[in-house]
Amino acid sequence: MKALEEKILREGAVLPGQVLKVGSFLNQQVDVEFLLEMGKEIARLFADAHVTKILTIESSGIAIAFAAAVAMHIPFVFAKKNKSANVSGEVLQTKIHSYTHGTDYTAVIGKEFLSENDRVLLVDDFLANGAALEGLVEIVKKAGAVCAGAAVAIEKGFQRGGDALRKKGIRVESLAIVEEMGENSLTFRR
Ligand code: 5GP
Repeated sequence: MKALEEKILREGAVLPGQVLKVGSFLNQQVDVEFLLEMGKEIARLFADAHVTKILTIESSGIAIAFAAAVAMHIPFVFAKKNKSANVSGEVLQTKIHSYTHGTDYTAVIGKEFLSENDRVLLVDDFLANGAALEGLVEIVKKAGAVCAGAAVAIEKGFQRGGDALRKKGIRVESLAIVEEMGENSLTFRR
Protein backbone atom coordinates (compact mmCIF):
# COMPACT_ATOMS: atom_id res chain seq x y z
CA MET A 1 0.00 0.00 0.00
CA LYS A 2 1.87 2.99 -1.37
CA ALA A 3 0.22 5.51 0.95
CA LEU A 4 1.33 3.49 3.98
CA GLU A 5 4.92 3.29 2.73
CA GLU A 6 4.95 7.07 2.25
CA LYS A 7 3.50 7.64 5.71
CA ILE A 8 6.13 5.37 7.30
CA LEU A 9 8.89 7.31 5.52
CA ARG A 10 7.42 10.65 6.62
CA GLU A 11 6.43 9.84 10.20
CA GLY A 12 8.26 6.67 11.28
CA ALA A 13 11.40 6.48 13.41
CA VAL A 14 13.76 3.54 13.83
CA LEU A 15 14.56 2.77 17.47
CA PRO A 16 17.28 0.50 18.86
CA GLY A 17 16.39 -3.22 18.75
CA GLN A 18 15.00 -3.03 15.19
CA VAL A 19 11.81 -1.39 16.42
CA LEU A 20 9.95 0.89 14.04
CA LYS A 21 7.98 3.57 15.83
CA VAL A 22 4.79 4.75 14.16
CA GLY A 23 3.15 6.34 17.18
CA SER A 24 1.79 9.26 15.16
CA PHE A 25 -0.81 7.17 13.30
CA LEU A 26 -0.95 3.55 14.50
CA ASN A 27 0.55 2.81 17.91
CA GLN A 28 -0.37 5.72 20.11
CA GLN A 29 -2.20 8.45 18.25
CA VAL A 30 -4.55 6.89 15.69
CA ASP A 31 -5.10 8.48 12.27
CA VAL A 32 -8.67 7.27 11.98
CA GLU A 33 -9.27 8.12 8.31
CA PHE A 34 -5.99 6.50 7.34
CA LEU A 35 -6.70 3.36 9.35
CA LEU A 36 -10.11 3.06 7.72
CA GLU A 37 -8.30 3.11 4.34
CA MET A 38 -6.01 0.32 5.58
CA GLY A 39 -9.10 -1.58 6.71
CA LYS A 40 -10.59 -1.28 3.22
CA GLU A 41 -7.39 -2.63 1.71
CA ILE A 42 -7.48 -5.64 4.05
CA ALA A 43 -11.13 -6.22 3.12
CA ARG A 44 -10.21 -6.07 -0.58
CA LEU A 45 -7.34 -8.55 -0.15
CA PHE A 46 -9.51 -11.05 1.74
CA ALA A 47 -12.75 -10.46 -0.17
CA ASP A 48 -12.79 -14.07 -1.39
CA ALA A 49 -11.87 -15.68 1.95
CA HIS A 50 -15.36 -15.90 3.52
CA VAL A 51 -14.12 -14.48 6.80
CA THR A 52 -16.66 -14.48 9.65
CA LYS A 53 -14.55 -12.96 12.44
CA ILE A 54 -11.34 -11.03 13.00
CA LEU A 55 -8.99 -11.89 15.87
CA THR A 56 -6.29 -9.61 17.25
CA ILE A 57 -4.44 -8.94 20.54
CA GLU A 58 -4.72 -5.92 22.79
CA SER A 59 -3.62 -3.25 22.59
CA SER A 60 -1.86 -2.25 19.39
CA GLY A 61 -3.85 -4.59 17.17
CA ILE A 62 -7.21 -3.16 18.16
CA ALA A 63 -7.30 -0.07 15.95
CA ILE A 64 -6.35 -1.87 12.74
CA ALA A 65 -8.63 -4.82 13.56
CA PHE A 66 -11.50 -2.38 14.13
CA ALA A 67 -10.84 -0.75 10.76
CA ALA A 68 -10.79 -4.09 8.95
CA ALA A 69 -13.93 -5.23 10.75
CA VAL A 70 -15.77 -2.05 9.70
CA ALA A 71 -14.83 -2.64 6.06
CA MET A 72 -15.75 -6.35 6.21
CA HIS A 73 -18.95 -5.86 8.22
CA ILE A 74 -18.00 -8.54 10.72
CA PRO A 75 -17.15 -8.50 14.44
CA PHE A 76 -13.63 -8.50 15.78
CA VAL A 77 -12.41 -10.11 18.98
CA PHE A 78 -9.30 -9.05 20.84
CA ALA A 79 -7.37 -11.42 23.03
CA LYS A 80 -6.56 -9.96 26.43
CA LYS A 81 -3.07 -10.13 27.78
CA ASN A 82 -3.10 -12.19 30.98
CA LYS A 83 -6.38 -13.36 32.38
CA SER A 84 -8.22 -10.51 33.97
CA ALA A 85 -11.26 -10.59 36.18
CA ASN A 86 -13.56 -9.69 33.32
CA VAL A 87 -12.71 -12.78 31.23
CA SER A 88 -14.83 -15.30 33.05
CA GLY A 89 -16.04 -18.80 32.33
CA GLU A 90 -14.29 -21.10 29.87
CA VAL A 91 -11.35 -19.57 28.08
CA LEU A 92 -9.00 -20.29 25.19
CA GLN A 93 -5.46 -19.22 25.92
CA THR A 94 -1.89 -19.47 24.78
CA LYS A 95 1.53 -18.18 25.83
CA ILE A 96 3.19 -15.56 23.62
CA HIS A 97 6.65 -14.00 23.71
CA SER A 98 6.45 -10.22 23.41
CA TYR A 99 8.83 -8.75 20.84
CA THR A 100 8.79 -5.26 22.29
CA HIS A 101 8.92 -6.17 26.00
CA GLY A 102 11.05 -9.31 25.80
CA THR A 103 8.77 -11.15 28.25
CA ASP A 104 6.11 -13.86 27.94
CA TYR A 105 2.42 -13.23 28.48
CA THR A 106 -0.76 -15.25 28.18
CA ALA A 107 -3.29 -14.23 25.50
CA VAL A 108 -6.84 -15.11 26.52
CA ILE A 109 -10.29 -14.99 24.94
CA GLY A 110 -13.63 -16.17 26.27
CA LYS A 111 -14.46 -19.50 24.61
CA GLU A 112 -17.86 -18.25 23.48
CA PHE A 113 -16.36 -15.74 21.04
CA LEU A 114 -14.99 -18.30 18.53
CA SER A 115 -16.61 -21.49 17.34
CA GLU A 116 -15.89 -24.27 14.88
CA ASN A 117 -18.14 -22.47 12.39
CA ASP A 118 -15.83 -19.46 12.21
CA ARG A 119 -13.37 -18.58 9.48
CA VAL A 120 -10.98 -16.28 11.26
CA LEU A 121 -8.76 -13.55 9.87
CA LEU A 122 -5.87 -12.66 12.18
CA VAL A 123 -4.99 -8.96 12.19
CA ASP A 124 -2.10 -7.14 13.86
CA ASP A 125 -0.14 -3.93 13.57
CA PHE A 126 3.34 -5.48 13.17
CA LEU A 127 4.82 -8.80 12.15
CA ALA A 128 8.37 -9.43 13.36
CA ASN A 129 9.31 -12.95 14.51
CA GLY A 130 5.73 -14.15 14.31
CA ALA A 131 5.10 -15.06 17.96
CA ALA A 132 1.94 -12.95 18.24
CA LEU A 133 0.34 -14.41 15.12
CA GLU A 134 1.49 -17.95 15.97
CA GLY A 135 -0.24 -17.53 19.32
CA LEU A 136 -3.44 -16.41 17.64
CA VAL A 137 -3.25 -19.38 15.25
CA GLU A 138 -3.07 -21.58 18.35
CA ILE A 139 -6.21 -19.98 19.80
CA VAL A 140 -8.05 -20.47 16.48
CA LYS A 141 -7.02 -24.15 16.53
CA LYS A 142 -8.18 -24.58 20.10
CA ALA A 143 -11.57 -23.16 19.08
CA GLY A 144 -11.80 -25.69 16.24
CA ALA A 145 -12.18 -22.75 13.83
CA VAL A 146 -10.44 -22.23 10.48
CA CYS A 147 -7.66 -19.68 10.04
CA ALA A 148 -8.47 -17.85 6.81
CA GLY A 149 -5.20 -15.93 6.87
CA ALA A 150 -3.41 -13.05 8.51
CA ALA A 151 -3.30 -9.37 7.65
CA VAL A 152 -0.76 -7.01 9.15
CA ALA A 153 -0.13 -3.34 8.64
CA ILE A 154 3.67 -3.55 8.68
CA GLU A 155 5.81 -6.65 8.22
CA LYS A 156 9.51 -6.43 8.96
CA GLY A 157 10.59 -8.68 6.12
CA PHE A 158 14.13 -9.06 7.45
CA GLN A 159 12.76 -10.92 10.49
CA ARG A 160 11.58 -14.49 10.27
CA GLY A 161 7.88 -14.41 11.17
CA GLY A 162 6.25 -13.77 7.79
CA ASP A 163 8.17 -16.42 5.92
CA ALA A 164 7.69 -18.98 8.71
CA LEU A 165 3.91 -18.48 8.70
CA ARG A 166 3.75 -18.64 4.89
CA LYS A 167 5.76 -21.89 4.96
CA LYS A 168 3.10 -23.31 7.26
CA GLY A 169 0.54 -22.58 4.55
CA ILE A 170 -1.00 -19.51 6.17
CA ARG A 171 -1.91 -16.74 3.77
CA VAL A 172 -0.14 -13.62 5.09
CA GLU A 173 -0.86 -10.23 3.53
CA SER A 174 1.11 -7.20 4.67
CA LEU A 175 0.19 -3.67 3.67
CA ALA A 176 3.86 -2.69 3.77
CA ILE A 177 6.94 -4.90 4.00
CA VAL A 178 10.09 -3.25 5.30
CA GLU A 179 13.06 -4.90 3.62
CA GLU A 180 15.79 -3.18 5.57
CA MET A 181 15.98 -0.41 8.14
CA GLY A 182 18.71 1.51 9.91
CA GLU A 183 19.00 4.77 11.78
CA ASN A 184 18.81 6.85 8.62
CA SER A 185 17.51 4.45 5.99
CA LEU A 186 14.42 2.39 5.34
CA THR A 187 13.54 0.45 2.20
CA PHE A 188 10.48 -1.59 1.24
CA ARG A 189 10.21 -4.98 -0.44
CA ARG A 190 9.08 -4.69 -4.06
P1 5GP B 1 6.23 -10.79 16.70
O1 5GP B 1 5.34 -11.49 17.67
O2 5GP B 1 5.83 -11.01 15.25
O3 5GP B 1 7.69 -11.03 16.94
O4 5GP B 1 6.04 -9.22 16.97
C1 5GP B 1 4.82 -8.63 16.68
C2 5GP B 1 4.28 -7.87 17.86
O5 5GP B 1 5.29 -7.12 18.50
C3 5GP B 1 3.22 -6.89 17.39
O6 5GP B 1 2.01 -7.22 18.04
C4 5GP B 1 3.73 -5.53 17.79
O7 5GP B 1 2.89 -4.97 18.78
C5 5GP B 1 5.11 -5.73 18.35
N1 5GP B 1 6.18 -5.27 17.43
C6 5GP B 1 7.10 -6.03 16.81
N2 5GP B 1 7.96 -5.29 16.11
C7 5GP B 1 7.55 -4.01 16.27
C8 5GP B 1 8.07 -2.75 15.77
O8 5GP B 1 9.06 -2.66 15.03
N3 5GP B 1 7.36 -1.63 16.13
C9 5GP B 1 6.28 -1.68 16.95
N4 5GP B 1 5.68 -0.53 17.23
N5 5GP B 1 5.79 -2.85 17.44
C10 5GP B 1 6.43 -4.00 17.10
